[in-house]
Amino acid sequence: MQNKLAHTSEHAFIGSLQKLMGKTLNVRKVEHRDYDNLVLITAKDIEVDSVIEAEREVNSLISQGRRVIIHSFGSLAEAKSHLPNLRANEDRIGRNNQVRVVEIEGHDLAACVMDHAANLKECGFFLITRMNRIGSDYEIDFVVSDAANNHAIDLSYKLLKICTETGANYNTVEETVKKLKQTNILHLEKLRKLTEEVLNNIEPEPTRNAGPCIISGTFTGLLDEQVREFASRKISESNLVVVLANLNSELDSMANVVFARSDSLFNIDCNRMFKEIASECGRGGGKSNFVTGVIRRENVGEFISTIVMMVATK
Ligand SMILES: [Zn+2]
Repeated sequence: MQNKLAHTSEHAFIGSLQKLMGKTLNVRKVEHRDYDNLVLITAKDIEVDSVIEAEREVNSLISQGRRVIIHSFGSLAEAKSHLPNLRANEDRIGRNNQVRVVEIEGHDLAACVMDHAANLKECGFFLITRMNRIGSDYEIDFVVSDAANNHAIDLSYKLLKICTETGANYNTVEETVKKLKQTNILHLEKLRKLTEEVLNNIEPEPTRNAGPCIISGTFTGLLDEQVREFASRKISESNLVVVLANLNSELDSMANVVFARSDSLFNIDCNRMFKEIASECGRGGGKSNFVTGVIRRENVGEFISTIVMMVATK
């Protein structure tokens, strides 16, 4: 039942979308699944506004109670001579076979052998739930009838929760989310600069005469991404080991750590050393010259001092 209704509304939807876009669409696949339906369209560019406009028209056609009329023809050529706007997959139908044409009254004509509702009204409500572009295909998910009602209620519930979380209302929520995103980008940029400043202030400590120098430290609230970036940049210098730990907040139980060394220090295998030291108190891994991982906060001090000690003896 659900499939029949979903399938009929799909005819109406493609009909609407074609009219809005002013061209015939190549529908590659229609899938009716347990909870929703998918239509796969090959097209260069489908605007989300057109999809929503088509959705609006389908619901208007449902309200109007457009009939679903079945026509039969002896061949595709005969069908096309009567109905020039017919949508038909010629490869699938064959030129000389009987053709069954499904008309959404005054709206869309498509050759199809599947079951359909007798009237679009039976579909109740048609709702688009997702749109996603994959290569040259657009996947559009939709639901009809009770599933559409339930999904609409879920959507309204989610939106109300988003409004509560962001302190916005229905009219301002989009603008509020955009502002939050922009503010987040600005804060990240500030944190990136701050992280860079803090790390640049660490004096590399020599382990012994002509031995490797070490940049080490434990921090709270730095930007992990920038800590890793700093380490990978520093090891392009020679004779340098970097071992840094960062807790994202005072409450974190694990610190993110990075342990890396210059190419010239090939006798230091960061990956092996890390795994030896961290086996009981953390996890992670990487290459012989660059390792990332996490270490329990109470073990961070010992972890760094052990690495410093081991590097000094290499
Ligand atoms: Zn059909």
